[in-house]
Amino acid sequence: MELLIDLPNIQIQEAFEDRSGNYILTVISTEKGTHCHKCGKRIDKSNGYGEFVELRHLDILGKQVYLRIRLPRYQCDCDGQPTTTQQVSWFTRRSGFTKAFEERILLSCVNSTIADVTIKEKVTYELVSGVVDRNIDKSVDWESIRKLVPQDENPNTVSEERVVRCKLRDLLWFFRCPCFVLRLSS
Ligand SMILES: [Zn+2]
Repeated sequence: MELLIDLPNIQIQEAFEDRSGNYILTVISTEKGTHCHKCGKRIDKSNGYGEFVELRHLDILGKQVYLRIRLPRYQCDCDGQPTTTQQVSWFTRRSGFTKAFEERILLSCVNSTIADVTIKEKVTYELVSGVVDRNIDKSVDWESIRKLVPQDENPNTVSEERVVRCKLRDLLWFFRCPCFVLRLSS
C-alpha cells in the first residue's frame, strides 16, 4: 500500500474502506525533526502532535483515497521555548489535498470548466477554485509578455495590438497551463 500511495517518509498505520467505498488511511510521518518557526534552528525535541488533518490523495483503482495524519510537534530552546509543527513536502497546510492530487486537479482543468472538474474528480466547486487560485497567477505580467516580442524590434515602439498578437501565440507556452486561458476568457 505504501508503494501505491507513493509519498516520501510516511508509514501506514491503519487502512480501511468506509461505507461509501473510499479508502481511509491513517499515516504517520517517519521524518524526524523540523525547523523552529521563530529562530529557524533545526530542532528534534518532541512535544506531542498537531491536530489530525484529512487530505484527499490520488485515487487507487477508482476509489477515493483519504489520508489522516497528525504531524509531530517539536520544541525549541530559544526565547519563549516555542513549539513548531513539522512541515512535510507533499502537502500545503490547510489545502485539504496532497500536492499530487492538486496537480491532478490542475491537469483536469485543461480544456474544462471548473464545473466539469467537480464532476470528473468529485470535489466541490470551491475546492477546485481554491486549487486554481493557489497555483495560477491572477494577474498578467504584461512586461514579461512584451519581452516575448522578437529581439529585433524596439520594445518601446511595439503597439499594444502587436503585444496582444504575440501574447495569443505564446500564451499557452508561456503559462504552460491552458486553464489560465480559460480564466482570461471567462
Ligand atoms: Zn527557536
